[in-house]
Amino acid sequence: MTYSVSPIGFVRSCFKEKFAIPRQPQLAPAARGVLELVAPFDQGDAVQGLEHVSHVWLLFLFHQALEDKPRLKVRPPRLGGNKSMGVFATRATHRPNGIGQSVVRLEKVEAGKLWLSGIDLLDGTPVLDIKPYVPYADSLPHARNDMASGAPEAIAVIWADTALVQAHGHATRLAEPLVELIEQCLAQDPRPAYQVPVPEREYGVRFWDVEVRWHYPQAGTIRVMEVVLG
Ligand code: SAM
Repeated sequence: MTYSVSPIGFVRSCFKEKFAIPRQPQLAPAARGVLELVAPFDQGDAVQGLEHVSHVWLLFLFHQALEDKPRLKVRPPRLGGNKSMGVFATRATHRPNGIGQSVVRLEKVEAGKLWLSGIDLLDGTPVLDIKPYVPYADSLPHARNDMASGAPEAIAVIWADTALVQAHGHATRLAEPLVELIEQCLAQDPRPAYQVPVPEREYGVRFWDVEVRWHYPQAGTIRVMEVVLG
């Protein structure tokens, strides 16, 4: 039996590639985007009442990780990428039906547009549904997950003087909290766990329309070297 679903909208996000997107929402509160609804949901009626809600659940498609062959086991980055686990025990992107879910902050609502922050979604992500966060039902203080009991440990992010000036300049031009976005995302240490960082090796990613380059001057520290138009 098959069912078909259609997106109710698409996310315009600060994240232009999968690399360096936090593993879950809320880890980078400065990560912002706009959910643009498509017809018929782009009318005010569909979002009426959302002004009473601070956070929403988004159900979406991992459109850049869809696969024909289902995987039963996956290697979550959280476990270092070398330990496999049943797909249903993880939040891996490769999963049956490719459906993801994120709870994100709703900053502003207009007919056809939802301004979001704290997102972990790639630019262009198709959204299947929106549901209001319901604190009494969705927050479970005594719930446990022994594989992911707390947020990943953040590492130190320092700046080359010129890079910080560049970042502030682009933040003003974009009217976005770019310095915070870079610090919050890089503090998650986006490097694949199997790569031992050497100071000479440079990494890069695009946020909004800028390219951010960094290296690891020593273990446990990221130094932002450059923030330039991508
Ligand atoms: N919060 C969601 C969940 O639990 O279902 C997503 C968790 S998943 C581990 C987060 C990762 O999904 C991000 O680091 C990013 O690389 C990836 N991602 C985000 N949007 C995507 C998309 N549209 N297609 C493929 N991968 C995506």
